[in-house]
Amino acid sequence: MNQPDAVVVGSGPNGLAAAIVIAQTGRKVIVFEAEPTLGGGVRSAELTLPGFVHDVCSAVHPLAAGSPFFRTLPLESYGLEWVEPPAMLAHPFDAGTSAVIYRSIERTTAELEHDAAAYRRLVGSIVTAWPAIEMDVLGPPRLPRHPLKLAHFGLKALQSVERLARNTFVRAETRALFAGIAAHGMLPLDRRPTAAFALVLGAMAHVAGWVMPRGGAQRLTDALAAHLRSLGGEIVARAPVASIDDLPRAKAVLCDLSPRPLLRIAGHRFPAWYRRKLEQYRYGLGAFKVDWALDGPIPWRAASCSLAGTVHIGGTMEEIADAERDAWSGRAPEQPFVLLAQTSLFDTTRALAGCHTAWAYCHVPHGSTADMLPRIEQQIERFAPGFRRRVLARSVRQPADIERHNANLVGGDIGAGVSDLAQLFARPTRHTYRTPVKGLYICSAATPPGVGVHGMCGYHAALLALKEALRD
Ligand SMILES: Cc1cc2nc3c(=O)[nH]c(=O)nc-3n(C[C@H](O)[C@H](O)[C@H](O)COP(=O)(O)OP(=O)(O)OC[C@H]3O[C@@H](n4cnc5c(N)ncnc54)[C@H](O)[C@@H]3O)c2cc1C
Repeated sequence: MNQPDAVVVGSGPNGLAAAIVIAQTGRKVIVFEAEPTLGGGVRSAELTLPGFVHDVCSAVHPLAAGSPFFRTLPLESYGLEWVEPPAMLAHPFDAGTSAVIYRSIERTTAELEHDAAAYRRLVGSIVTAWPAIEMDVLGPPRLPRHPLKLAHFGLKALQSVERLARNTFVRAETRALFAGIAAHGMLPLDRRPTAAFALVLGAMAHVAGWVMPRGGAQRLTDALAAHLRSLGGEIVARAPVASIDDLPRAKAVLCDLSPRPLLRIAGHRFPAWYRRKLEQYRYGLGAFKVDWALDGPIPWRAASCSLAGTVHIGGTMEEIADAERDAWSGRAPEQPFVLLAQTSLFDTTRALAGCHTAWAYCHVPHGSTADMLPRIEQQIERFAPGFRRRVLARSVRQPADIERHNANLVGGDIGAGVSDLAQLFARPTRHTYRTPVKGLYICSAATPPGVGVHGMCGYHAALLALKEALRD
């Protein structure tokens, strides 16, 4: 490519989104990716045995399917097909029962007994308001377009999930269901704003579905990359950027990086005050991830678990809260909260005939070296006796492995930084996408709206670059 207008460092969903926004304006953009495969947190590979397609990082994609930016792209014409399981989420209990979220609110509430009306009021009202508030929730802090609707959401969202669940639901099962969704936020459940994760992801189950790309997460990346190339964008893999001084000259550089790797390649160009701010950015819990090749489906005791793409394993709200508090306090939980996806049940392209894959992780202390495999499998056995007998092969990633494959995920923090109140909006600093270096922007999940596969960090950063450094 002749001299590009913009360079993007990193091909995660936010890097590709940023590049697409810029390429859509007819400008020349080039993406440099360190790894041999594109996609960062959105990749698939045969991690266990030939014929078993595992998601290396993200597996379940409500935020991608519902992304206000991705929705506008012709990704289906580049092979993306969303697979929607009969149930979005199941949460089993020791009694052999389970709580389930379906795409339909009516079907969900039909099984929530005494909590049906409360669920409809709480989650249903956010689902109804979502089209009006999505750009405010999934964007940088600014004057809201629909202040009243956003305030209604904010009053609930800025609470701890323990408080909201106790004040809203009477059944222990519904509280546990809600707490499990909030635990995606990787914070102790008595902390604010854990309710926000439960409300956004819970609402997305009804708005867009907890869906997955047929053939694996890589298909989403492949579709984004193909669309970018169709707009004239260029992507170079196996191209780790050691210093921004090595990049081709361009009016704008957008880094799909969290602060630590950003400091490595651009720290020498920042003033001391900004370097210090980035150094103070906090990374949080690590993840311990396991992928299995199985010779059959997981033998859940609760039948409804076999209908769900995602299963939350951890028992009651109190048990999940204990597991998350332990990890946060530096102790590897004895009974971890396990987030499990069983994509091959609904997508036969993922495994050999009759066989299946499973994907799971639990939260551990930052950088933990504890071996969680026995504890994760024990938790699955608790609700699916005989699970271990189905295992053909395993692939295990500790926090250090997760960071080795993606420099953004320091200490195995798959959220690219803590998402507590202090860092949710002022992310990674109060300057969000901007840096003090003219034309240099941050577009990763370490900017608002943060973790998840939605591309909205890249979208907002690129719009800012178009207004400033790339303005004609
Ligand atoms: C195990 C795991 C499970 C997850 N599960 C889900 C899920 O189910 N659903 C969901 O929505 N989200 C999930 N996530 C989170 C999601 O993957 C991330 O929030 C998302 O990928 C962030 O996108 P990004 O573009 O900001 O950065 P990334 O996806 O982290 O991409 C950054 C890219 O930059 C590249 N890079 C880094 N340094 C350099 C350099 N110096 N030069 C060139 N390239 C560089 C990296 O190799 C990487 O490709 C999960 C993450 C992990 C790790």
